[in-house]
Amino acid sequence: MGFEFLGLSEQLLAAVEEAGYTEPTPIQAKAIPAVLQGKDILGIAQTGTGKTASFTLPMIDILSQGRARARMPRSLILEPTRELAAQVAENFEKYGKNHKLTMALLIGGVAFAEQEKLLDRGVDVLIATPGRLLDHLERGKVMLTGTEILVVDEADRMLDMGFIPDVEKICSLMPPRLQSLFFSATMPKEVKRLTDKFLKDPKEITV
Ligand code: AMP
Repeated sequence: MGFEFLGLSEQLLAAVEEAGYTEPTPIQAKAIPAVLQGKDILGIAQTGTGKTASFTLPMIDILSQGRARARMPRSLILEPTRELAAQVAENFEKYGKNHKLTMALLIGGVAFAEQEKLLDRGVDVLIATPGRLLDHLERGKVMLTGTEILVVDEADRMLDMGFIPDVEKICSLMPPRLQSLFFSATMPKEVKRLTDKFLKDPKEITV
């Protein structure tokens, strides 16, 4: 079954074709329609399964409706490392080049002032590592109350790196009306506790 049956816009299908993808991977086939319907997702999937596109593609279509306000990102993607955060940003740039989405990457090693300038302009997509995001939150430079979609990627790696308390704190600052997408390669007890606490009737996808 091709990408055209998943409910994505023509603009996005063009970007997918340009990326050279002919068939959705199993996680994409299951996750994309569910994300477009507004459902929460628990995806048990490793890197290499195409999981990044399974959330970036539908998010681009959802976020293309509406407009960002200063310091209130419309979506947040949490990644355990700078490298993963940068890769996800590249995905948004590649697939979203026919859309006018604004994006900011909050990772260590970049000056705060530069990141704050982007936040002030308003961002549709905020990609961050938990520690750096908490720094910005504590400085009062970003608010999470306008978040429409949250992605917690590589949750088991977050656990290995000791980031679960930070992730939990960030999740607890989210507004009640929120679509949440969690991805993890494995489901250790602490990750299960977090998904039980924050996901609302999620569609579980194991690949
Ligand atoms: P990920 O699991 O998200 O890290 O993706 C792994 C790799 O698969 C990336 O290099 C993607 O560009 C590529 N990819 C993602 N979706 C597809 C697809 N439907 N067909 C072919 N390659 C894909």
